[in-house]
Amino acid sequence: MAPLLSQLEQLCSSCARCCNGSVYGATTLEPAEEQRFGCRALPQPCPHLVERRCSIYASRPRACAAFLCPLALALERGLVTLEAARARLVTSPGLPQ
Ligand code: SF4
Ligand code: SF4
Repeated sequence: MAPLLSQLEQLCSSCARCCNGSVYGATTLEPAEEQRFGCRALPQPCPHLVERRCSIYASRPRACAAFLCPLALALERGLVTLEAARARLVTSPGLPQ
């Protein structure tokens, strides 16, 4: 079985709803991050989203790193399989809320 992080990456790269503007209008930045990015919040669709993957994943904002939608959290906790979680993506257009 693939490591959990890999499963989350696989799930999120099939989705990207919390980065592509489907649900959120912007990503909140902390004060130190505002200086780094040169803005008070990252607009969505996020300019760092490339083909449904975060191009700055290792150094993404804290709010991004801390966020898991309920489906991703269930996957992380082993409550659903990757296959079941992917199936939910198809039928849950407003997933993060
Ligand atoms: S909405 Fe959930 S499954 Fe989709 S990319 Fe965000 S954390 Fe991943
Ligand atoms: S920085 Fe990365 S994780 Fe955060 S909203 Fe943009 S693409 Fe998504």
